[in-house]
Formats: sequence, C-alpha cells, structure tokens
Amino acid sequence: MDAFELTATRCRELLASGEASSTELTRIFLDRIAATDEHVSAYLSVDTEGALAQAGAVDAKDPADRGPWEGVPIALKDILCVQGWETTCGSRILRGYRPPYDATAVTRLRDAGLVFLGRLNMDEFAMGSSTENSSYHVTRNPWDLDRVPGGSSGGSAACVAAAQAPWALGTDTGGSIRQPASLCGVVGMKPTYGAVSRYGLVAFASSLDQIGPLTRTVDDAAALLSLVSARDPRDSTSTGLPAPIVPPTATDLTGRRFGIVSEYLGEACEPGVRRVFAETVKAIEALGGECEEVSLPSVQKGVAAYYIIAPAEASSNLARFDGVRYGHRTAHSEDLLEMYTRTRSEGFGPEVKRRIMIGTYVLSAGYYDAYYGQAQRTRTLIIRDFEQAFRRFDLLISPTSPTVAFKIGERTADPLAMYLSDLCTIPVNLAGLPAMSVPAGFSEGLPVGLQIIGPHFSEQALLEAAHAIEARLAVPVRPQIAGVES
Ligand code: GLN
Repeated sequence: MDAFELTATRCRELLASGEASSTELTRIFLDRIAATDEHVSAYLSVDTEGALAQAGAVDAKDPADRGPWEGVPIALKDILCVQGWETTCGSRILRGYRPPYDATAVTRLRDAGLVFLGRLNMDEFAMGSSTENSSYHVTRNPWDLDRVPGGSSGGSAACVAAAQAPWALGTDTGGSIRQPASLCGVVGMKPTYGAVSRYGLVAFASSLDQIGPLTRTVDDAAALLSLVSARDPRDSTSTGLPAPIVPPTATDLTGRRFGIVSEYLGEACEPGVRRVFAETVKAIEALGGECEEVSLPSVQKGVAAYYIIAPAEASSNLARFDGVRYGHRTAHSEDLLEMYTRTRSEGFGPEVKRRIMIGTYVLSAGYYDAYYGQAQRTRTLIIRDFEQAFRRFDLLISPTSPTVAFKIGERTADPLAMYLSDLCTIPVNLAGLPAMSVPAGFSEGLPVGLQIIGPHFSEQALLEAAHAIEARLAVPVRPQIAGVES
C-alpha cells in the first residue's frame, strides 16, 4: 500500500472492511519513517514497540467492539504530555522529563484507540517559524531538503507531507500550525481559542495557544478536530465547540462572501505567492463565492503587539523550569540561586532567553503601561477590526505565509525577518479566531497555502469552504523526497 494514499479516513475504511489490520498500517508508517526520516528528520523519537503493542491490542479486539478511528496511527508534537514518553518541547531543559499524565487531547485520542507513532520536532517551546530553534536537530522540508518546513510545528507538517503518518497534532500560538502547513503543502487548522483543552499542553502564551490538526485532506482535519475538541473541566478556558463537527460535503460556494484582507497582499508578499493567491480567488469565484477586498488597518500592528504579549506570558510560564521539578538540573552549583541560574542558562536556547528577557522587561513596573498595556489595547483594536469585517463577510482569505519555504539558515541571524513569517497568521490568534491553511498551488516548485479565517466557532463553515476549494484546486500532496525512491 502507498503511504500517501493512506489518509486517516482511508485507514479507517481499510480497518472497517477488514482489508488491513492496525498492525499492517502501523508497519507501513514505521517503514516509511525508516526510509525517509534520515532525510527529513521530522521525528524526535519513534515508539516502535509502543505503537505495535497498541496496534496489536486493537487487532485482538472483536471488530464489532471497535470505535471508528480505533487502530489508526497518529504522530504528536513534542509539546503535548504523553504519559511515559519523554516530552521535551524541543528543549534541553526538559531532557529526560517523562510526564506522569496525558494531555487531555492525548487522552481523547487514546480513548478513541489511536496508535501513537512518536513525537515530532519543533522550535524550542514553540518559539520560531522554521524549527531551527529545536535544541535537537533541524527538520527539512520534504519538497526541498535545503529548506525549512516552517515552524514551530515543522516536525508535524514535514511528517504529514512525507507520509510518515496519516495525520499529526500541532499547536498554534501565532501561526505554528498554519505556516508550516503552508510551507509543506498540507492542511492545517487552528481552532477557535477554547475549542480544544490546553491541559497537558506545555504553555507558551496561554491566551493564544491552541492545539489543532495537520493532515493531508480537509476531511481528515474535520475528523481530528472532532476527536480532540471538547470542554474540559481541567482547563477553565476550554469551551469545546457549540455543535459536533460533521464531515464536510460542500462542493460549491454560491452566496458565500469572502473578504480578501488587503493588508496581507502588500510588499512583504512574494510575487509567486500573490500569483497563486490570485488564481485561488478565481477558483473561489468559479465555485460561486463572492470575493471583495476589505481593509483591516490594525492587523498591521499584530506582529508588534504579539511580540510583547507572547513573551510577557512566556516569561511567566517558563519560570517553572527551575531545575527542581522538571528535566535538566545543572551539575555544578554551590547554592540554590546558582542552581536556578545555571540550570536555566544551560537549559534554554538563545531564542527562548531572548523572549524571557523581553517578557520580563515589558512587564516591569516602569514600562508596563508603555508596552504591555499598549499591546493589549492594540489587541482590542484587532478584535474589533475582525468583528467589523465579519459583519460584511462570511469568511476572510489571504495567503497563509508571505513567502514559500526559505533556505535553512536564511533567517536565523535576523530575528525580525523570522518574526515577519507570521505576518498573516498572528492577528488571528490575538483575536482568538479559527483559521485554516489549505494547499493552493506552487511557486517555484514549492507549496503555497491559502489562509481562510472565520468568526469564533465557525469551524464547520471553514471546513465546508475548505472542502469545496480543495476539490476544485486538486493540489497534489506528494513531494518527491531527494534520495528516496517513491
Ligand atoms: N512564530 C511565532 C513565534 O515564534 C509563532 C509560534 C507559534 O505559533 N507557536 O512566536
């Protein structure tokens, strides 16, 4: 069987009809990982034994007693607590940390009988847009191994694009699901803030973080969202979704009004990306959708506000990594204070240290109003701009990323250039909105994604639109990985 054909929905069908066992499917992906991951490096670790044991247990069950997704494999970003697995968040400071519990999203997948293949690489504590900030290794884009897969869920996107798993979970604080999905040519969805419980998700910026799916099809994204979303008493900010997600069926967009966010088509946007986006707009119109430009002036301040709010929350969230409770502790210290300092100096990488320093600074008494207070006011303006736009439009569209995948090393020396990778995605998190990236086409042989943004809790409408657009564009998700026979 061809791993690319094995979407999660296809795996489910094969299991239901008895054409494949969970062990067979799991082996196909383990073999695929063995054949490709020395080139792609999406995984931090593969749990061969655990996955085969889970698959074997499913196969031993009477098919009549199995749930619909039971036996389908999945891979998980290394930021989600999985009981018994090392969970490091791509950081040295958490090396050796084995959580004593599962994240709620993981529990839900475990209860549904999914098979866990392994944990996926990421930028340290989800801070980055290229996965180059991982303390462990660089992940490569399956479409061009000299390029980044995006980040911070770069391992998740590369894994799904390379068919090393049918689907994966990632997290998105400012674009970390959508931007890597765009750069790797897969589907990525950030749900409405609160739709998925953050319990057991290692916190980066708690008012922005959300867990969501990375998949090869829109149908799979709908299925995975429906598996993980729910209100959870362990996360007081979780709400679940107002109605269960059903498999999307739309094939036409008649009467749907799409607002094209003008601010996202400015100079920062590459000509090749603009070209693919223009073609996508035509495709939406051909499906009956009405497209018109709309201006959201305050989104231009999104990146600036985010780089105050997110580091502020991170500086507080990361205070818990002190060498006492989790993972790494320095081998050389005379007293407690030195133990804290050395542990944190040794354990955190440069980007994380930069964020902690910025966050501590913007929260300090003398500067709080000038920076943090101002950023929060800007956040309110962004929320209002979106609210106003959704009075006129059902959904908003833009490129997901202003550029295609960039070369490894190209932006590492310039944090600001790296931060601008999330120009189009960050305002969505600040407003808590749901958004998706779907493959739209190629520029210079590299994938370009379309971002679709909806009002709060409009996941079903987003998925319907994405479903119709996906069928119309029929963009192939099948990179030819250099050095790997297909
Ligand atoms: N690239 C952004 C950052 O570095 C967003 C990351 C994310 O969504 N986790 O903060």
